[in-house]
Amino acid sequence: MTKIRVGRIATEIAERAIALRRQVHRFPELGFEEERTAQLVERELDTLGIEHRRVAGTGVVGRIAGGQPGKVAALRADMDALPVTERSGESFSSEVPGKMHACGHDAHTAMLLGAAHVLAAERERWKGTAVLLFQPAEEGPGGALPMIEAGALREPPVDAVAMLHVDPRLETGTIGFIGGICNAAADEFRIAIEGRGGHGASPHLSVDAIPCAAAVVLALQNIAARETDPLKTVVVTIGTIEGGYRNNIIADTVTMSGTFRSQDPLVRSGLEARARRIVEGIAAAYGAGATLEVLYGYPPVVNDAQLADTFRRYLAAATTLPVERPAPTMGGEDFAYFAERVPGLMIRHGIRSEQAGSVHPAHSSQFRLDEAALATGIETLVAFARGVGTGEVYGNAARSRGRAACAGDT
Ligand SMILES: [Zn+2]
Ligand SMILES: [Zn+2]
Repeated sequence: MTKIRVGRIATEIAERAIALRRQVHRFPELGFEEERTAQLVERELDTLGIEHRRVAGTGVVGRIAGGQPGKVAALRADMDALPVTERSGESFSSEVPGKMHACGHDAHTAMLLGAAHVLAAERERWKGTAVLLFQPAEEGPGGALPMIEAGALREPPVDAVAMLHVDPRLETGTIGFIGGICNAAADEFRIAIEGRGGHGASPHLSVDAIPCAAAVVLALQNIAARETDPLKTVVVTIGTIEGGYRNNIIADTVTMSGTFRSQDPLVRSGLEARARRIVEGIAAAYGAGATLEVLYGYPPVVNDAQLADTFRRYLAAATTLPVERPAPTMGGEDFAYFAERVPGLMIRHGIRSEQAGSVHPAHSSQFRLDEAALATGIETLVAFARGVGTGEVYGNAARSRGRAACAGDT
């Protein structure tokens, strides 16, 4: 098997990817507004002679056929930014106030373009077909499902799908993945406590929503601390709390919002009822009313175990990349929907470097990434496409609801 470790041409390709990443970084766009980014992707694909089509508004699907027939690998990159004001200090910082690529999706987009560049240039030397999925709105409301509904996994039918996500836990030059559940279901909730307002000097004539809300906040932690099997994982975070008017007025309402994170489907399905019992029970004890609304989000990403094993073996034979086994996180990712339909692999991509200052967590206004890592990411994506194409990298077809399920999607 030939090593696909990058040589001179790949240095040019990596440099091109860095330039593209900076262009995307300077003009971040939020979910389903990625028009400028989508046009940049389309221009680059045109330059490379790669056919493409628009789906789901700002999504772009490209397709490269290798020199010989083989299996179909899809590679997915998300393109959207976050509503954060950048404080990274980078010379190519966001030029759009209040918007920033603080999750590395600019690099994901650039690396997929870099991989497309390699695959197109070496078209005659590999088997199969590579499908390029440039996805909008990963940070919400979710672009994966609209892309699937538009036939992104069906035309042509995809055998396996992979994505990279930059990860400041891993050093530049490394990647990592595990089989099975590798992140969490991310569900949002909203709570409203309804009391009765009044004068701050006469609490006995009112129903104060604030102490009731405080009790609810504390009691909700019992879901994790006392009600869930300690060997299963759950997070209950209250992210916002608002209520009241002034120091001497008793607040009539308090609203809160938060997120549930879970991995086990049974734990997840029980969260709403547990939270409702606690919220309504405590409100009743305080003489107040309460409502709870749960907005279900992305399911957990489940990496296909066989795909993870075969890709690990393939990388060891075909590359010199260090491949780690990072612990799962409680983050959410709508790649889960792709991986529910065809064998999928979410790959963590090391970008940590003290020297480059890429030590801040994703979503931080100070987030940076070490651009030297882009070559590693490109190499990983190319290896996945080539390995799937020859059939050396494959998922568990029996467990996959893949092609059949895709065919039924509309
Ligand atoms: Zn993010
Ligand atoms: Zn992200």
